[in-house]
Amino acid sequence: MTEAQREKFKQKLLALHAELTGKAPAKIEPNRTDESRVGGDEDEQPLNEMMQAIASSRNRNMDGVLQRVVKALGKLRDEPDSFGECEECGDAILPGRLEAMPYAEFCVNCQGQKDAPKGGPTRRKLTDYT
Ligand SMILES: [Zn+2]
Repeated sequence: MTEAQREKFKQKLLALHAELTGKAPAKIEPNRTDESRVGGDEDEQPLNEMMQAIASSRNRNMDGVLQRVVKALGKLRDEPDSFGECEECGDAILPGRLEAMPYAEFCVNCQGQKDAPKGGPTRRKLTDYT
């Protein structure tokens, strides 16, 4: 990987980092009153709880991404030569994969093996990472 490529990924990572840290996490708004529906519908409560569950699981996901972004930035700084290499097998991670996820730690093969639990079909989708 060239210096220019690394610099490009660094910029991407910094932008991601700013987005993840600067922006408020997916908002959790308990008991938010919808102004267009004054009067309070009792059916709303379970929906609110569901929305909160979704929001908090989304936050956990975002935290995982942030951790990896921070880690990738540290790697670019401390051991730039290994940036873009799979931490498992050491192969170069495909450029397209890094474009989509500059914080990727593993190549497609190793990630696939990690995602697939032994003896069962994987439920995890690649889109979970976006
Ligand atoms: Zn690998």
